[in-house]
Amino acid sequence: MCGIFAYLNYNVARERRYIMEVLFNGLRRLEYRGYDSAGIAIDADLRKVAGYGRVEAERMPPYDSLPPLVFRQEGKIESLVRSVYAEVDAMDLNLEESFPVHAGIAHTRWATHGVPSPRNSHPQSSDTWNEFLVVHNGIITNYEVLKETLVRHGFTFESETDTEVIPKLAKFVFDKAREEGTP
Ligand code: GLU
Repeated sequence: MCGIFAYLNYNVARERRYIMEVLFNGLRRLEYRGYDSAGIAIDADLRKVAGYGRVEAERMPPYDSLPPLVFRQEGKIESLVRSVYAEVDAMDLNLEESFPVHAGIAHTRWATHGVPSPRNSHPQSSDTWNEFLVVHNGIITNYEVLKETLVRHGFTFESETDTEVIPKLAKFVFDKAREEGTP
């Protein structure tokens, strides 16, 4: 059975390193449930988004900030932790950067659709900008028909998971509503 953990700070400044450690510790506390892979997503710096404070609907790709960062790894939580710190080092990400508002999500996966691998780990994403990110526990029984429909509408799938249809369906519906001016 997989595990889901999230951490949100709002109007309380927290450093990126602190946020990451809270997410890792959340996953460690869920470890007893069993899993085969794990992942986290953390925000980029929203303060670098032009017009931050105005409505989110204006955050259309290409964004002025980096999209949220996603890290995924097969195996134990500690191998995720090691790979995150290695990637963070490689991209020279500032761990002391402070976020007054931040949403982070974390997941341990027990594969039902697709082998355990970084690509099949969660969060699963809607697109290259990670506009929608999803962690999910369970099975989407009608995912095949949803996937076929989304592929017909031009979506490309990166994983073998059933889960990936959720962020892509969310983006499909959101983009349609945005086109019609309703969100
Ligand atoms: N069905 C999803 C997958 O295979 C989620 C499995 C789980 O509950 O961890 O990725």
